[in-house]
Amino acid sequence: MNRALEETADLTAAQPSTFLYKADPLRGQRWAELFSVRAPDIAFHVWPGHADPKSVRYLAVWEPPARIAQTFPNLEILFSIAAGVDQIDFDALPPDLPVVRMIEPGIAAGMVEYVLWAVLSLHRDMPAYRRFQSECLWKPLPLKLAAARRVGVLGLGELGRAVLRQLSTLGFQTFGWSRSARNIAGTTCYGAQEQLPAFLANCDILICLLPLTAQTQGLLNKSFLNHLPRGASLVHVGRGQQLVSGDLLSALDSGQLSEAVIDVTQPEPLPASDPLWTHPRVTLTPHIASMTQPDSAVDVVLENIRRFHAGEPMTGLVNKARGY
Ligand code: NAP
Repeated sequence: MNRALEETADLTAAQPSTFLYKADPLRGQRWAELFSVRAPDIAFHVWPGHADPKSVRYLAVWEPPARIAQTFPNLEILFSIAAGVDQIDFDALPPDLPVVRMIEPGIAAGMVEYVLWAVLSLHRDMPAYRRFQSECLWKPLPLKLAAARRVGVLGLGELGRAVLRQLSTLGFQTFGWSRSARNIAGTTCYGAQEQLPAFLANCDILICLLPLTAQTQGLLNKSFLNHLPRGASLVHVGRGQQLVSGDLLSALDSGQLSEAVIDVTQPEPLPASDPLWTHPRVTLTPHIASMTQPDSAVDVVLENIRRFHAGEPMTGLVNKARGY
């Protein structure tokens, strides 16, 4: 055990201490193995488990259970197993319970891989070549290099910035938009709602990496899409409720948009009758752009437990008023 984790053990040894995991049980088994080696003093249970609810001090969830305060009277930290926290109803939680979202290197690495695949595929016209192949059509399209392509990222947080670093390395012209103005070397940044049209006008390929909040719900609608240059493409990896899918389909049919790569939908799973499944200009994946990687996530969680008991700020502490 390293020193930080020994300190965690010391700080939690005084009272019985259980970490309860309520998410995918298969991945939970890997969490359990890692906890047994890296934090043997913390009892680890996969939900529903046999933990005494009074001993549960840490709870990691995709969707939280009902009546948290009554069920777990000694809960100290609620961890989201995901980068987003939109699945958690803050009003149902004790007001002073800290909520911590997942910021860990594995999620960022997975997201960078997915977005680079999608951007390079759109940039090099791969959806069109797939359609040509299905018609045995040998038809070269004009070749544009990355330096001539403008790629914009909505949301300049942990994931948006990780994606932009790699896009810049490939030579794309990069643009970013966030709530507050940001300064990112090599990227032209826009902040605040009134700068959104100017940002969108620069995006040949637009990537959505915004958290779902009251402000971003339904943001990607007809008037938003109309601000993009004609023939632009969308990569949507934020949350399904941010996109008005009927407006997306109309924009694809009218030629306002040329392609869309969609990883998140409303609802999930998407019903077989939904037109997104079969639209020729939509590439659909089942919310797999990225996933929390237990091997790196457990270290981040244990370090946050240590920080909490040492009175230090935790990485990924959610601002409940802001919603992310
Ligand atoms: P983050 O670090 O919290 O960053 C969020 C960014 O969005 C910040 O730059 C923030 O602006 C900006 N933002 C928030 N509300 C805004 C608004 N109303 N207008 C403009 N900008 C706004 O989040 P992250 O870790 O990068 O993750 C982003 C999202 O990716 C998650 O919430 C989740 O929905 C999604 N995600 C999807 C997958 C998948 O597999 N598809 C996997 C992981 C995550 P400020 O900089 O001003 O705060």
